[in-house]
Amino acid sequence: MSTDTKSKSQGYSFLITTAAPDEIFTPEDTSDEHRQFAQSADEFIDQEILPELHALEKLDRTLLRSKLQKAGENGLFTIEIPEEYGGLGLDLMSQLVVSERFGACGGFSVAYGVQTGIASEPILFFGTDEQKEKYLPKLATGEWIGAYGLAEPGSGSDALSARTTATLSEDGTHYVLNGSKSFISNGGIADLYTIFAQVDGKQFTAFLVEKDTPGFSCGTEEDKMGIKSSSTTTLSLEDVKVPAANVVGEIGKGHKIALNILNLGRLKLGIGAVGAMKLAIKQALAYGIQRKQFSTRLVDFPLLQQKIAAMLAATYTSEAIGYRAGGQINANIEEASESGETSFAQQLAVLEEFSGECAINKVYDSEALDMVVDEALQMHGGYGFIEEYDVARGYRDARISRIYEGTNEINRLFITGNLFKRVMTGRLPLTAEIQKALTDGGSATSNGAGGAALADVAEALASAKRLFMFVSTMLSRSGDAAGMTNLNEHQEALAWLADVIIEIYALESTYLRAMRRIEAGDDEASLHEDVARYQMAISAGRLDRAARALVDGFSSVDSWAANLQTIRQIGTWPRVNQVEIGRRLALAAVDVERYPFEVFA
Ligand SMILES: Cc1cc2nc3c(=O)[nH]c(=O)nc-3n(C[C@H](O)[C@H](O)[C@H](O)COP(=O)(O)OP(=O)(O)OC[C@H]3O[C@@H](n4cnc5c(N)ncnc54)[C@H](O)[C@@H]3O)c2cc1C
Repeated sequence: MSTDTKSKSQGYSFLITTAAPDEIFTPEDTSDEHRQFAQSADEFIDQEILPELHALEKLDRTLLRSKLQKAGENGLFTIEIPEEYGGLGLDLMSQLVVSERFGACGGFSVAYGVQTGIASEPILFFGTDEQKEKYLPKLATGEWIGAYGLAEPGSGSDALSARTTATLSEDGTHYVLNGSKSFISNGGIADLYTIFAQVDGKQFTAFLVEKDTPGFSCGTEEDKMGIKSSSTTTLSLEDVKVPAANVVGEIGKGHKIALNILNLGRLKLGIGAVGAMKLAIKQALAYGIQRKQFSTRLVDFPLLQQKIAAMLAATYTSEAIGYRAGGQINANIEEASESGETSFAQQLAVLEEFSGECAINKVYDSEALDMVVDEALQMHGGYGFIEEYDVARGYRDARISRIYEGTNEINRLFITGNLFKRVMTGRLPLTAEIQKALTDGGSATSNGAGGAALADVAEALASAKRLFMFVSTMLSRSGDAAGMTNLNEHQEALAWLADVIIEIYALESTYLRAMRRIEAGDDEASLHEDVARYQMAISAGRLDRAARALVDGFSSVDSWAANLQTIRQIGTWPRVNQVEIGRRLALAAVDVERYPFEVFA
């Protein structure tokens, strides 16, 4: 299944060039086959998960396992697994579409996501042929459930400093593992665990450990605030003998597995959040349409309409960045396979290229989801606080997304740190583009695609890129921020700069998606225009806040006033009438009683 190669590009290239609308992949570009997958997932969720959600929420392990097995029998684990190992061997986009649909299932979506992601990908990308033959068919059918053990009581964000040890036996046939793991999803129901341990105390390595191996055990279930239908336990390893053949990848190269697997995980987490946002919007609309106060439907109050508009813009933008990044990755993988390089190593290189975009998706979508579930609950008033209304579950379930797959703090540091590394090693010609922008008045950042439609958003986008260039130049000047010689001492700068980067990718993806609909003469084009403008107002506020914090925090006494004036000049955003646009967006959603930009309806 092809998503064509129009999205081929380079990681972070959005900062220095602007794609044309037809160069990016959007949710509207999903094929009939993608939509059939979405439909199969929806049918499974409607028939198998939603009717049993209350029982699943009580964490009945037998029920959870049986539902996962049923998902396997329905082919929902097979998408990315190659045909020779019992899978369908389809493109990433097919998996993203299904992950989005499962996003509405709370804890079950975590169990599903682990099985199709961090549990099978280490074997898929790094396993030997024997490991693939032995384990992938079982994971693909759901006969076996998988889990991924990286975090430990003493090491979460600092995952590579894990203390679990692995010692090679004298005869070289097996390793002996000792240690413990914490917060392991699917911990209490899995058959196969990828466990990270230090060989000889210092060589970080991944191992495949089967459930029944003597000395291996899982602890009791954690009592979590959300995603209650997923299993989360500690793991204990006491003299666990693991065959040497179960080492995944190379000894001492476990970091490559841990970090690379995270890239894809972050994108899938982001897309899953979109599914959860759509459900929260539906719940808020259903409640707001039937509930009256002061003889008026809740959805007719302008203040609540603004909430609906904000939820729609957040969801639209999250979709836009998820499908754009997925399309970029897919297109680059397809191009590599056209040139005969279909190896998993090549796919990993593509994922690494877009690791920044994956992290952006994780941060943006998890925070968008938090806002959406919060406002959906608020629209329910007191009833939102009562568990009988499912919106409370969505609120609790959302919170974990900012914590796992790397906390949002760690991801923000990564987004900027990773960019700086590429600039310093010559992978991204950012410095040259900044010079060009400063000498030729900013043509490098101006949005070539800006026609009459949405010209104001194109203008705002060009300003956002100029703002980025200005603040990053400011941070590199020795007078300000002491030249950023030690990045760890300037975490705030990295995080606030990440906010600027994230917002540029978000606004640009939204703008390009809307432009595609306008250029295609879509019936709903004016609604796409509205949502892009509404997003511009939101992005402008966030860009101002981040730029101001950077200037206040990192200007020298002498340069502060001039720096402040510059960011104010750059950030003269076009006018957006949020009152009119917000009301229009809300009414469009009320009309269809769901997210009005749904492509899988
Ligand atoms: C429900 C659940 C399921 C999970 N599933 C899995 C799983 O299947 N497999 C697995 O291996 N792990 C799993 N985890 C673990 C998860 O990945 C970690 O909880 C997460 O990475 C954070 O680690 P920590 O909890 O130790 O927090 P810490 O690392 O102690 O962080 C605490 C706070 O300090 C901040 N912080 C840490 N370091 C820095 C820094 N350098 N600079 C600035 N701020 C910093 C963090 O952002 C955070 O706000 C799960 C966790 C939960 C709660």
